[in-house]
Formats: sequence, structure tokens, C-alpha cells
Amino acid sequence: MLEIKDLHVKLEEEDKQILKGVNLSLEAGKVHAIMGPNGSGKSTLSYVLSGKDGYEVTQGSASLQGEDILDLEPEERAAAGLFLAFQYPVEIPGVGNMTFLRTAVNAQRKARGEDELSAAEFLKVVRAKAKDLKIDADMLKRPVNVGFSGGEKKRNEILQMAMLEPKMCILDETDSGLDVDAMKLVSQGVNALRDEGRTFLVITHYQRLLDHIKPDVVHIMADGKIIKSGGPELALEVENNGYAGILAEVA
Ligand code: ADP
Ligand code: MG
Ligand code: MG
Repeated sequence: MLEIKDLHVKLEEEDKQILKGVNLSLEAGKVHAIMGPNGSGKSTLSYVLSGKDGYEVTQGSASLQGEDILDLEPEERAAAGLFLAFQYPVEIPGVGNMTFLRTAVNAQRKARGEDELSAAEFLKVVRAKAKDLKIDADMLKRPVNVGFSGGEKKRNEILQMAMLEPKMCILDETDSGLDVDAMKLVSQGVNALRDEGRTFLVITHYQRLLDHIKPDVVHIMADGKIIKSGGPELALEVENNGYAGILAEVA
């Protein structure tokens, strides 16, 4: 699904190398988790994959289902099936949440050569999915994320994902700022989308999210590289011993 080879990334504005040779091979149908200390480059990796400005790829490649994505515009990457749930969801004053979702869904359908959903069809689908995530009608009418609590913003990211049905879903610390009940809702939302044709990259600090979203593979990132990969037991090791043990072992 997603193949990342020797990815090196620096900041455009500064001479600062952030990713220093990331290699990841994410198969269709799998859930991969990335854990790692603050500042190790996890968000940078997700930003670079989704096409955010300000980063320069100096070496390496990333391809989605065989197509090189690093030269594509963000909307082209989305049309190709990539989705990023932000660590810090953006507020968009003046744009209604419902309008935003409908525009995004229809743009995606158009890119795939499918007909637009009628207003009635769209409403039916969005209401059902919002209900699953306990997002009430009022939150659908308000401007995107404006005045939403931290947990509401994260649930709204999952609603976007559920509506867009992307192939490659990247979740950047979607669990941070969630209480236990909200984390369960978010996990249920993710698990409902698990499918043999869909891949998840779940970035998290905490094992507890991985109790709900069971990963197939866990990677540890430190200083711009994947330093260790393993099964779910690797997340437990981090939970019990912190990163220090793994960092020392690898060094
Ligand atoms: P993580 O998500 O693993 O906590 P980040 O990808 O956010 O790490 O950051 C990796 C490193 O790159 C950090 O040292 C961070 O300060 C730096 N960094 C990332 N983006 C920028 C930026 N736009 N300007 C300055 N420093 C940045
Ligand atoms: Mg961080
Ligand atoms: Mg981050």
C-alpha cells in the first residue's frame, strides 16, 4: 500500500535535517503503529506524506500503490486515497462542518469518476456516521472545529476519515487529549474501517490506544529514523520501560 524508502527530509527554511532515512513498508489490510520520543519526526513524516509545505525531501521516495506521491499536490494525494488525521486539527472559521465534509466527499468521488451524492443521500450517510461517533447535529452545523473541545476535534477527524473512506489512513496522535470514553469511540470508528484493502499508520505515545486498535506491527522512531520494529509486544515494552531501554539497546 505505502512504500517509504530511505526518506530524508529537511526544513525548507532552515538547514535542519529531520528525517534521516526512514524505511517503511505498509501492506494492504494492516495496522502499523509508530511510537517514539517527542521531536523524533513522527509528525514530520505524516506531514511530508500528506504534502504540507515547508519541508524538502532531499533523498528517498514514497509511493502509494506503486505511484510516487511526493511530487503530487495534497489534493491529488487525497484523491489517490491518502488521509491524515492531524495531531492538531485546524479550525476553519466561516466554513460549516457539513459543507466542508460534503465538498470533500464529492471532490473525492469526482476524482474517482463516481457521481456526486445528492444532498439527501449525503445527509443520511453523514448523520449515521456522526451518530456512531456521538457527534451531535449542532457540531455538524458549526464551522469546522471552531470552539470544539480537544476530544470533539479528534472525533471530527475520524468522521472525516469515515466519510472519505481513504485507502491509507494516517492518524497522528489522535488519542492525545481524549478521555477514556472518547478514545473508545475513536477506536471503534477506526476498527469499523479496518478492511483488507485499507492500511492504517497509527502514531501514538500510549500503549492504551493499541489495546483498542490492535496493531500488526509496531515501529519505534527516534531522531528521524525507525530504530526498531516488532509486534504488539514492543508497545508493551515501551509502556513498561520507556524509550530509554530501546535507545540504549540500539546504540
Ligand atoms: P514528533 O511528532 O515526533 O514529536 P516532529 O515531527 O513534530 O516530532 O518534530 C521533529 C523535529 O523537527 C523537532 O525537533 C521539531 O522541533 C522540528 N520541527 C518540525 N517542524 C518544524 C518547523 N516547521 N520549524 C522548526 N522546527 C520544526
Ligand atoms: Mg510530538
Ligand atoms: Mg508529533
